[in-house]
Amino acid sequence: MLITNDSDKQDFSNVWVMAEISQGKLHPVTHELLGAARRLASLRNKKVGAVLFGAKVKDLAASLIPYGADLVIVVEDPRLDGFNDELEGRLLKRLIEKYRPETVLYGATTRGRALAPRAAVMCNCGLTADCTGLDIDPENGDLLQTRPAFGGNIMATIRCSKHRPQMATVRPQVMKAPAPDSGRRGEILTESVDTSEAEKIKRILKYIRSTEATVNLAEARIIVSGGRAMKGSEGFKVLEALAAQFGGAVGASRAAVDAGWISYAHQVGQTGQTVQTKVYIACGISGQIQHLVGMQSCETIIAIDKNPDTPMMQMADIAVSGDLFEVVPALTELLKKNS
Ligand SMILES: Cc1cc2nc3c(=O)[nH]c(=O)nc-3n(C[C@H](O)[C@H](O)[C@H](O)COP(=O)(O)OP(=O)(O)OC[C@H]3O[C@@H](n4cnc5c(N)ncnc54)[C@H](O)[C@@H]3O)c2cc1C
Repeated sequence: MLITNDSDKQDFSNVWVMAEISQGKLHPVTHELLGAARRLASLRNKKVGAVLFGAKVKDLAASLIPYGADLVIVVEDPRLDGFNDELEGRLLKRLIEKYRPETVLYGATTRGRALAPRAAVMCNCGLTADCTGLDIDPENGDLLQTRPAFGGNIMATIRCSKHRPQMATVRPQVMKAPAPDSGRRGEILTESVDTSEAEKIKRILKYIRSTEATVNLAEARIIVSGGRAMKGSEGFKVLEALAAQFGGAVGASRAAVDAGWISYAHQVGQTGQTVQTKVYIACGISGQIQHLVGMQSCETIIAIDKNPDTPMMQMADIAVSGDLFEVVPALTELLKKNS
């Protein structure tokens, strides 16, 4: 929807979050987005809407309200089993035309990354992918969408002044999920799939989950990460020993992954995973912006580096200046003794 006239913007109101279902449960990114939407909506004195599609989702609708939704729009239909971006796109477009949200937020997950551009094209509006920060201009409701640009060399804030709704995807674990407030009240509305929307679309016959064993950085509470300083895959054994002391996972910078010392599943950063752990221990990682965007929301950051002046050492809560091949084994031994 192209808006060239400022007064037409007044027709659009409220911040929507596209709720995501993963294996029958709400994906955590939904709660994170609701927290962000709540903050943005409060700045404009508007409401937060959550949109929930699926085959069996009605029971989940009420659980979105304590996280910040004022209104939940539910569409429950067997044709929405699994993920069908074609059908969901058509459905979402109709709901957007009917309710006219000012902003729509999606998780930058596989699903969100498929649905958001489809819906944006259908609604003839803009989309900013992989935002790491969101704010709003309280005067005119323009969403200020911050994301790394030019290979992560600058952080760009993108404004979409002439289109409504404004759409953005946000990676999981970039925003903090709010604590649920069981006293919040909200409204649940039911909509249905229009038969014409379900016509001529692909049919999904079967989902096959990958069984490849891989590290789950998203669920780790503590990550010990290594960079170029590890010098080879042998070097990572030192980090594995430390991580094992607290049941943590091993992460890596892209330099270490590109060198082939550890698999891509361990990569943290702009082109890897975004993590939000209790503790992040960066060992021999200088802290280039492309790495920082993937871990800067961790609660406590500990850096170990020979060079005290690196960006990582400067931004860390605890900076240990020294050779990691001395510091890390000493720390592991200390933990073993005290465990
Ligand atoms: C488009 C694009 C996307 C990118 N995406 C990512 C991404 O997702 N993730 C990512 O990590 N990078 C990414 N990068 C690469 C990024 O720019 C950096 O090149 C990379 O993060 C550097 O890795 P590093 O910190 O391990 O290596 P370096 O920058 O070389 O740092 C190595 C550090 O180890 C220290 N050191 C050396 N020996 C020791 C020792 N014995 N003990 C202690 N410290 C020691 C050094 O002092 C130095 O600080 C991307 C780049 C581009 C252009």
